[in-house]
Amino acid sequence: MSAEGPKSPRSGTEGRSALNAGAQALAARADGARDVIAVRRLSQRYGDGADAIVALQDIDFSVAEGEFISIVGPSGCGKSTLLKILAGLLPASQGEAVLNGTPIDGPRKDIGMVFQSPVLFPWRNVLANVLLPADVQRLGREQMTGRALELLALVGLTGFEHRYPWELSGGMQQRVALVRALIHDPALLLMDEPFGALDALTRETMNVELQRIWLDRRKTVLFVTHSTTEAVFLADRVLVMTARPGRIGDMFDVKLPRPRSLDVMTTEPFGVHTRRIRAVLSGGGGIE
Ligand code: ADP
Repeated sequence: MSAEGPKSPRSGTEGRSALNAGAQALAARADGARDVIAVRRLSQRYGDGADAIVALQDIDFSVAEGEFISIVGPSGCGKSTLLKILAGLLPASQGEAVLNGTPIDGPRKDIGMVFQSPVLFPWRNVLANVLLPADVQRLGREQMTGRALELLALVGLTGFEHRYPWELSGGMQQRVALVRALIHDPALLLMDEPFGALDALTRETMNVELQRIWLDRRKTVLFVTHSTTEAVFLADRVLVMTARPGRIGDMFDVKLPRPRSLDVMTTEPFGVHTRRIRAVLSGGGGIE
C-alpha cells in the first residue's frame, strides 16, 4: 500500500454514487486490495408506526483492507447506530454488513472498539485493563502480555503498566483504551468519537499519535467524528452523512501525503476537503 493508503475505485466525485457502492464492492477491485467490509442497503429503524425513527437509510459502501475511513455528520444522523451494527451490537432492520466475507450478526472477536469514554476498570492497573479482552477470550496470558507491552510502548506508555486509571490524564486513558482494542489483533477497529471529550490541544496531539500508530499497524479503521478537521486529517477517505434519516451525502478520497503534520490543516488543499464536507452539511447543523 502506498503512503496515501489504498486507492479506491469508488472514490472522488464518483463517490457520489455511493448508493450503489455495495454492488461495486462485489466487483474485483482495480488496485487488488481486499475489501474487509461491505455494507449493502443498510437501513435502521427504531420503533414502529408513526413514532418510528429512521436512523439510517440505504447505506452502501465498502472498505479496503488497511484503509482509514472517517465518518462525519451532524448529531443524530446515525453514526453511532452504524458503528453498533458493524460491531454486531445491534441487528440491522434491513440490508447487511459483511466483515471478511461473513455477515455481521452478533458480537465478534475480530473487531476492536474505542468509545468517547475510555471505560477503564478503576481496580485494574493499565496492564490488567489492556489484557481484559485477552482474559475474556482466554488467549495465552504470556504471549498477550508481551503484545500488550509492545503496544503500550507504541502509544508511549512504557513505565505506566502498573499505574491505575485515575493516575492518568484523559489522553493517556484513551491510549490505554486504544491498546485494549488492539490487543487481540482485530481485523477492524471501530472508533466512536474517541477524542471528543479531550481538550483541543490534547485532541490534536492524539490525532497525530493515532496517525503514527495507524501508519505502523495499518489496521482497517472506521473513525466517527463531529470534527471536519479531524475527519480530513486522519482519513484516506471521508464518508459524509446527511441529517436524519442518515444517508451517505458524499464520499471522497483525501490524497494529502502522509505522515501529515498539524500544519497541513492551514493549507489550501486541506481547506478544499473541509469545505466539501461543510457543503454537504450546510443546513444540517451540529458540526464544528
Ligand atoms: P449520532 O451518533 O449520529 O449522533 P445515533 O446513531 O446516536 O446518531 O442516533 C440516530 C437517531 O436514532 C437519533 O435520532 C437518535 O435519537 C435515534 N436513536 C438512537 N438510538 C435509539 C434507540 N435505542 N431508540 C430510539 N431511537 C434511537
